[in-house]
Amino acid sequence: MKGRVLSVASECVPLVKTGGLADVVGALPAALAGQGWEMRVLLPAYRALRARSKGWPVVWREASLWSGEGRVLAGEVDGLSVLLLDAPHLFDREGGPYGGPAGDWPDNPQRYAALSWVAAALARDGVAGWKPDVLHAHDWQAGLAPAYLAYHGSGGCRSVMTVHNIAFQGWARAAMLGDLRLPASAFHPGALEYYGGLSTLKAGLVTADRITTVSPRYAEELMRPEFGMGLEGVIAARAGVVSGILNGVDLSVWSPGVEGANPYSARDMAGKAAARSGLSNEFGVDVPGPLAIVVSRLTDQKGIDLLPAVVPELVAAGGGLIVLGSGDPGLEAAVTDLAARFPGRVAAKIGYDEGLSHRLFQGADAVLVPSRFEPCGLTQMYGLRYGTLPVVAATGGLADTVIGATPASLAAGVATGIVFHPTDALAFGQALRQMVRLHADRKAWSRMQAAAMAQPLGWEASAAAYAALYAGLKKG
Ligand code: ADP
Repeated sequence: MKGRVLSVASECVPLVKTGGLADVVGALPAALAGQGWEMRVLLPAYRALRARSKGWPVVWREASLWSGEGRVLAGEVDGLSVLLLDAPHLFDREGGPYGGPAGDWPDNPQRYAALSWVAAALARDGVAGWKPDVLHAHDWQAGLAPAYLAYHGSGGCRSVMTVHNIAFQGWARAAMLGDLRLPASAFHPGALEYYGGLSTLKAGLVTADRITTVSPRYAEELMRPEFGMGLEGVIAARAGVVSGILNGVDLSVWSPGVEGANPYSARDMAGKAAARSGLSNEFGVDVPGPLAIVVSRLTDQKGIDLLPAVVPELVAAGGGLIVLGSGDPGLEAAVTDLAARFPGRVAAKIGYDEGLSHRLFQGADAVLVPSRFEPCGLTQMYGLRYGTLPVVAATGGLADTVIGATPASLAAGVATGIVFHPTDALAFGQALRQMVRLHADRKAWSRMQAAAMAQPLGWEASAAAYAALYAGLKKG
């Protein structure tokens, strides 16, 4: 065993998930075990998790953890070593992790300060004889964990802060400094102060030994005002310890070779043609050109607002589109409207449907991801895996995972999709024209599909990069 890592987060598959953060936190322990690193995950015992942890031994307790008792329970779920912070006054509530029907919980600063406080305590002192070398904190909910190590003693434990999405920064009022167990001396712009208040994410960014985010390109982008959302200067000031490590894909879940009625592989694509026919029937969309899909939250971040400007030309050129997504009501309406305007060419399904998303990736020719920013992005990677060529904006993880078709990349046989810049209707429209042209050249398209499907996308490379990061920290 090379070392031990305590990972602290607010979500983790298969226990609690609202977004991609949970997938990463849940996938890392198994992937790191293959690299010789032992990882345990500390999570809050939300109401649903309390039921699952009945009978687990108590391995740590504090009588007054923000005005109630906090206990840590240790157990195992699907091979994952889990530590649950059981503090009913903070986490045993009806609703989601961050809020109920009336919106965010007003005591979120204290709730996640408690999680971070306990993470730091376990990292510093060890738990039931298990002493971590590294504390790995994810997003604003765990941002205070490295800060507590910095201000209350680290016990030799080093720290990593990972940014999954800089848009969420963990805001708290300046008056809460003491209540959050933070020293008054740290309240200045070089440390915890953030526009007159506190940001728990900033606290992690200024105190952690290393900062990572989920793609190399996003790591660079975060140092620029267009992407850093106010924290660009903080990250740029620490550029020497910032790195980007791409997320992996769960290859057992996203696997065209074994799933559905029409499995296929790069060597035999007949199943994909059959899946395409099935999709055409299911949605009543029948087009001679490329059949594209969008599987996404419908938000401005994802560039969905650009679709009404570019889809008419795509349809005129013989292409089609199926959209699966939900989100902004205005964008839902815009997408539904497109389907009504172009029957037989465009279809839309408003909602979240994992099974349908698999069928879409199996049957479609291309997946469109016109994001304005994209920390890593998963759907372009699913597209690569399924030979459903990604048409993506040149940002964040999209730029890091797709090799755009150019005369040079096509001649070399390495192109895996179409990449456009900037994220506007003009560039997106040009990318779609290029998609239609390339699709008509069956040889070129097949070659791109083969290159896309050959790209390694599992967790091995990411786990090796995290392992190297931890090893560097452990050496000192
Ligand atoms: P983000 O986390 O910003 O939403 P990602 O691309 O990293 O974007 O991850 C989105 C994940 O959610 C992907 O697995 C995608 O397939 C899935 N997804 C998004 N919208 C839907 C939907 N409407 N139905 C099914 N899956 C969806």
